[in-house]
Amino acid sequence: MANKGMLVVLSAPSGCGKDTVFTELCKRRDDIVKSVSATTRKPRSGEVDGVNYYFISENEFKRLINSKGLLEYTVYNGCYYGTPVKGVEKAINDGKICFLIIEVEGGQNIMKLRPDCVSVFLLPPSLKELEKRLKGRNTDSDECIKNRLEHAEYEISFADVYKYNIVNDDLKIAVDKLEEIIETELIAHNR
Ligand code: 5GP
Repeated sequence: MANKGMLVVLSAPSGCGKDTVFTELCKRRDDIVKSVSATTRKPRSGEVDGVNYYFISENEFKRLINSKGLLEYTVYNGCYYGTPVKGVEKAINDGKICFLIIEVEGGQNIMKLRPDCVSVFLLPPSLKELEKRLKGRNTDSDECIKNRLEHAEYEISFADVYKYNIVNDDLKIAVDKLEEIIETELIAHNR
């Protein structure tokens, strides 16, 4: 019998490798989808509209808020980010495991709205390592990296709110753990 749809909230400070961990998990399972968020942030090089995000204007974002088109939203680093309701509903109805890869405020809002969601927080091995990864990414200005690091410390203080914590030191081990969590939760979810 097909599985029931399941919602997974995955949060981590930026630079912690959550997109890589998620991509690796997708290679192992074909029932996983990512909710594509809407944002007013400008696309980074290589990012594609409708794939990485829906890149929209502030006015369009406000229209989405007013029409109740977002499950949750937040302002992060001066930009709006939000989860469109439609994509999540479709994924759940299709029996998929729908990942919301979002920051901690949004994560906590989803936990309140959908107490049956599975919540996972990905931690960096250390703040020093996170700084190294952010600098190595070469996508953000020094000012932006400083803001992201300060915000990382704030976000890490919420790790305990999440049901599961995974330290992303070794990619394969982190993906193994996430896969194990998904398998365990799917069994409970479909009981
Ligand atoms: P980035 O600019 O690095 O792509 O994302 C910045 C932060 O916003 C990340 O922590 C990312 O997970 C989070 N984020 C992305 N989409 C959403 C969303 O729809 N809602 C919330 N609350 N956070 C989001």
